[in-house]
This record gives sequence, C-alpha cells and structure tokens, in this order.
Amino acid sequence: MNDASHLAPAGHLAPEEPVAAVPAADAPTLLVKIFGKDRPGITAGLFDTLAAYGVDVVDIEQVVTRGRMMLCALVTLPAPGTGTEGDLRATVHSWADSLGMDTEIISGVGDNRPRGEGRSHVTVLGRPLTAQSTAAITAVITGAGGNIDRIFRLAKYPVTAVEFAVSGAEPVALRSALAVAAAARGVDVAVVPAGLQRRAQRLVVMDVDSTVIQDEVIELFAAHAGCEAEVAEVTAAAMRGELDFEQSLHARVALLAGLDVSVVDKVRAEVRLTPGARTLVRTLKRLGYQVGVVSGGFTQVTDDLKERLGLDFAAANTLEVVDGRLTGRVTGPIVDRAGKARLLRSFARQAGVPLSQTVAVGDGANDLDMLNAAGLGVAFNAKPVVRQAADAAVNVPFLDTVLFLLGVTREEIEAADAMDGVRTP
Ligand SMILES: [Mg+2]
Repeated sequence: MNDASHLAPAGHLAPEEPVAAVPAADAPTLLVKIFGKDRPGITAGLFDTLAAYGVDVVDIEQVVTRGRMMLCALVTLPAPGTGTEGDLRATVHSWADSLGMDTEIISGVGDNRPRGEGRSHVTVLGRPLTAQSTAAITAVITGAGGNIDRIFRLAKYPVTAVEFAVSGAEPVALRSALAVAAAARGVDVAVVPAGLQRRAQRLVVMDVDSTVIQDEVIELFAAHAGCEAEVAEVTAAAMRGELDFEQSLHARVALLAGLDVSVVDKVRAEVRLTPGARTLVRTLKRLGYQVGVVSGGFTQVTDDLKERLGLDFAAANTLEVVDGRLTGRVTGPIVDRAGKARLLRSFARQAGVPLSQTVAVGDGANDLDMLNAAGLGVAFNAKPVVRQAADAAVNVPFLDTVLFLLGVTREEIEAADAMDGVRTP
C-alpha cells in the first residue's frame, strides 16, 4: 500500500523526511480484541481471517498469562471490493466463536493516541509483591499525572519484579513520590527515565564490603589479629563523626601491625560473595558491560575478586607488607568517599563511557559521591541516608536484582546461561 518512491536507490542514503503516517489521523480504523484459551495458531488464524478483507495492520499487542491470551490488533477498514465493515465483523465473530474465543471489535479513527511526554520505567520489586503495595504504587503513578502504558513481569525469582512503562509524569518528581510510598509498603521501586540512555549504560561500578561481598574485610583481618573489639570501637567513632574515613582507616589498619601475611589467603577464603553477585557480573559481561569494584578495603582482597569474577576494574587501599608481615600501614593514595567517585570517573574514561551512562551500586555513606556521580546510583541494602540520596534502592539481599532495574528479565538471564551451557564444554 505504501508508495515505494520514498526508497532511495541502493547505495544512497534515504532522505530523512518522515514517511506519511499510516493511517491518516482521521481515517477510520478497527480495534479487534480476542480473548480466550491460548493455543497454537490463534494469531495466524485471526490474521488469515482479516487478510480476506485486505486490511493493513497498524498495531498488534498480545499477552499470554497462565494460558489465557489477549490479542489486540488495530487495523484499517476493508479494502474496496473485499466486503463491508459489517462483513468483516461477522466473519471475525464466527471464526472466534468456532474456537470458543471472546471477541470485541471497536470502531475508531487513526493510530493509538500518542504517549505523553515524560516517560519512565518504573520497576517494582516485592517479596512477595502484594496487591496492597501494587495498589499504592499505581495510585502514586496516577496521582503524579502518569499513565501506565504497559506492564510486564521481569522476574518471579528471587523476587517478583514488575516493570511499568509510564508516560506523562516527570521522572524525578515521580521518583520522589514513589520513594515515600515504597518505603511505607516495604517494596523497592526504581524509576529510570526511558530513552536511549538506558540502553547505552555500559559500565557498572560497585562497592565491595556489604555490597559485592557480605563481609567487612577489615573485620575479617581483625578477627585474625584478635582485635575485633578495638576495630569495632574505631568504626563506631567514625560513625559518630569523631574520625573521618582516612583517620579511621589508619587507626584500624595500625591494629593489624605484625600480622603474618599468610592471613591474606585465609581472609580471601573467608570472603562470602553476596547472593546473585556472580549472576550479576556474568550477565552484565554478556550484555557487553564493563564492570568494576572500588573499595575502602584492600587490594589484597579486591584483586582476588577481580580475578574470580572476571571484572574489568578494581581499586582499593593496599596493606603494606614487609618481611612477610603487615606493617599496619597502607601504601598508595587512599580510596575514600571522594576517591571512589574519582575512580568511577577514571574507569568511565578508560571504558570510553560517558558518566551519564554509568551505574554505581553501594551501601555506605562512603559510596554517596560515587552514587551521585553515576548516571544511575543504586543503594543496596543501604542505610537510610544513602537510600534517600540514591536514584534507586534495592532492599532485598540479592545483588542480581540490579539487573531488573536495567530492564533485564530473569528469562533473559536464564536463556543466556543456557546458551553458555551449550557453548562451554
Ligand atoms: Mg560497603
């Protein structure tokens, strides 16, 4: 039906003018809705039936939920000489009746209504996801002027994750409105502006202690040095604001002086990865992301993590070792709160990724600058002050849920794993 004259000859660039919209805004169209038990051939059967009337397809949407399908087709009116709209309606109804499917055919004009400005992806994570919290979240979206254009499930494991495509609400305002409702309901909600940015995210940088791993590495060392109580005291003083990070780092590392270097191997073996950490990194790598860690802890552990997880970048403080013993000092520049943000920028430069297309994940006050600097800052089981400052918060103990914020589905993760299973001997 389309005039093919807009197609440029091979070897030439096509002109940038938009091709005339099909159909015209005031042209009559029909919405054909089919609902019923899913089985092979329904979609083919409907379009075969419609084909007899020479109609063009303007839009198709289909969903199947627990064996029930809903198929919506927006089509033009019957072509001249093929029959009337009444004939088309009768034919479609009798085809659907013969299969026990429900049908509705609604007359209208033109294409779908254009979606409103201000588009975002709202990801909701619940364990379980209750009807009550779903009601609260969707009411906030409506209250913010948003329209839910599409809903689909991203995952049923380890959490129920659902994504709402929302238009008509300003993402930043929507995010703050939803943060309040989410906290009150005990679900996680992330609002990510829609658009090419989301697809172009290409670098993920994570904190280590209590993010990629479940432990605080300094505490593991302290246990071997028998100075857990002293280290905990310094940590508490730092949290009270009596010491800054650098002072507290030096004070805690000093307590490790004289420890045999063989403890490094023991600590490496004791480190427990956060559930989902391997899945997250493996999947990100498959998607072409670069992945790094930054830590106020020690390279003695992060270098090992880099190796084990196949990370692209790792940076931390280095415990000084002389004559087979820890000296109680660190060498090199200190990785602190500002240092983490600096490293994010440096990794982004090395990866050739603009800062706006980076994702940072962390749990502590030390991560705040990095979370703010990144395109998307994710607070992972973080303290309230970090949660409030971040773009998105995850409060379930599974690191791979970060993938759902990026729009990756559990099905895609499993499909990629299965493909690798075939390829890998
Ligand atoms: Mg941490």
